[in-house]
Amino acid sequence: MNEVLASSVTCLYGVGEERANDLKALGIETIQDLLEYFPVRYEDYRIRDLSEVKDGERVTLVATVYSEPSVRFYGKKKSRLTVRLVIDRVAVTGVWFNQPFVKKHLSPGKQVVVTGKWDKHKLQIIVSELMDADSPRARKRSDLAAVYPLSGSVSLAFLRKLIDQALTQYGDHVTETLPSELVERYRLMPRAQAIRAIHAPGDLEEGRQARRRIMFEELFLFQLKIQAYRRITRQQTEGVAQQIPMEEVRSFIRSLPFSLTGAQKRVIKEILDDMQANYAMNRLLQGDVGSGKTVVAAIALLASVKAGFQGALMVPTEILAEQHLQSLRSLLEPCGIQVALLSGSLTAKQRRDVIDGLQMGLIDVAVGTHALIQEDVYFRRLGLVITDEQHRFGVEQRRILRSKGFSPDVLFMTATPIPRTLAITAFGDMDVSTIDELPAGRKPVETSWAKHEQFHLVLEQMRRELDRGRQAYVICPLIEESDKLDVQNAIDVHAQLTTYFRQYRVGLMHGRLPAKEKDDVMQRFASGELQVLVSTTVVEVGVNVPNATYMVVYDAERFGLAQLHQLRGRVGRGADQSYCVLIADPKTEVGRERMRVMCETNDGFELSQRDLELRGPGDFFGTKQSGLPEFKVADLTTDYKALEVARQEAASLVASDHFWRGPEFEALRNLLRREGILEGTVLD
Ligand code: ADP
Ligand code: MG
Repeated sequence: MNEVLASSVTCLYGVGEERANDLKALGIETIQDLLEYFPVRYEDYRIRDLSEVKDGERVTLVATVYSEPSVRFYGKKKSRLTVRLVIDRVAVTGVWFNQPFVKKHLSPGKQVVVTGKWDKHKLQIIVSELMDADSPRARKRSDLAAVYPLSGSVSLAFLRKLIDQALTQYGDHVTETLPSELVERYRLMPRAQAIRAIHAPGDLEEGRQARRRIMFEELFLFQLKIQAYRRITRQQTEGVAQQIPMEEVRSFIRSLPFSLTGAQKRVIKEILDDMQANYAMNRLLQGDVGSGKTVVAAIALLASVKAGFQGALMVPTEILAEQHLQSLRSLLEPCGIQVALLSGSLTAKQRRDVIDGLQMGLIDVAVGTHALIQEDVYFRRLGLVITDEQHRFGVEQRRILRSKGFSPDVLFMTATPIPRTLAITAFGDMDVSTIDELPAGRKPVETSWAKHEQFHLVLEQMRRELDRGRQAYVICPLIEESDKLDVQNAIDVHAQLTTYFRQYRVGLMHGRLPAKEKDDVMQRFASGELQVLVSTTVVEVGVNVPNATYMVVYDAERFGLAQLHQLRGRVGRGADQSYCVLIADPKTEVGRERMRVMCETNDGFELSQRDLELRGPGDFFGTKQSGLPEFKVADLTTDYKALEVARQEAASLVASDHFWRGPEFEALRNLLRREGILEGTVLD
């Protein structure tokens, strides 16, 4: 940036060491920090007409002093000053608390400007600020005063004055950061003008335009770093260009019992293109539950194996590993591909065999949980790693995985639709493929919301489905795997339903069952031997029993919307109409709104966007693990369109040669250099 702006705030009149320390607590050390300390809102000092002021409003009015002020003291240091004022021909009372000294500014006949809270019924204004009508600020009629977030001993008045001083002395040193094409294309305020206007706008619209410019800059520079980083790492990593025999892939696709959706075809092309290129793939595949990600994964694994490599599929739970093993086996084994399970439930001997098979290259595809990346597991030629529900895997696991092979291509799959804004922010260093289309003929799950007292009606409806030969899930909340109370809850509901549905078999599943028993229960439900499955959220992901058409979620208000949607995805997997009933008595309006949203939409992306709006981005991923950046001005819940535009512009800029050479981009390149991006420093 600019050297002058980098100088310390102590250059300013009135800032000594002590003040400098106070400012430092707010993160302000240089003139630039001060100029970029943005207001959160404006206080409106524009003079209003008394007739249009509402009761209780904070307002600025012009008044004529009509009487001598009178002061009454009470208690220690407490006083009340009143004076008769005439405002727009109305006689009103001006009241000042604990400011007896204003008395000398209030001589009868004088014109003043008062700011304060209007009490319509008592015809009085409780004044917080007083100005002479002929003071320079009072004469400037369109006055919006910036309000800054404050803490410690810095006062608002002091900060306003200081910023004013900095703007006067240094405002002309502010230089443009955005490429001029962008400033023109999006009609953005030039930077110097925006910095002035955000602190002291002539009117609210000017303030909005200033904010829009600064918000865009923030998002653009953020995306520029990510896009530049992506481009550089892509150039630097030595990936394997897999030689995929495309004819074999095509004939596999033809052999499937259904034809792929357009969206599936598109993402397969994106994935295979990455695998064939000589950089390492780093791609996120997102698709709603039931959108057909598994078959996409199978095709990618087939391609990799046919190109002479091994593949690994990593999943969060044993149940899911088991399920994926079965679906991959039935898809891939007919093509001569060996698929094996590597999980914690294997005996030592079984485990040894799988590990040897992987090392010798006898096994083509390994499916498993974290056990897949343990120390003693080696692959002969690992080409592709797919992880399902990637957000459950930490950065460290990803790193170990990558180090297992010759920088394998990596595909992260998630069925938790993340609003696109968050996807490109939190996972900005990845390419994103989205399956935004469900296979034809799917009936949306009919979702309704019932109160606890209506539970017996719900059970009657459930009985009708069971009588038609269908199966049902009853889900009980589970916050932590170890939460005894919740397990007890599932056990109780199981006991209750066992007596209620005497003619049907009711199974019980929760995280505390031994793996063997879980598998057993799941098998019996899948085969239809059990008609009802009472379960905690362990059935959340991946479980596929098409004959199950009914789901009841107990205490639904305790789940996140994304999780409810995941759960709901366990039904509606066959050709028949399915139902999901949410049992909940939410206490808050937001809670009720969340239930309504669930009933209204079946679209996971829309749902996650609504959830984001209801909860805000910080909460969205539960904890702060999301790696979302903190923006000063931009707000991802409202500015996501701008983020998208910023991302496209940044990507096309770093893809152009003149960005890396042109002198007009020197400043931006310097920014990247300062962030260590041009040196190829790894951010991850
Ligand atoms: P996801 O993993 O995305 O939730 P799955 O891959 O489990 O979805 O697919 C759900 C079901 O849809 C599976 O039974 C699968 O065989 C089937 N399926 C996948 N793609 C298609 C398609 N294009 N047309 C019809 N059925 C499909
Ligand atoms: Mg799946």
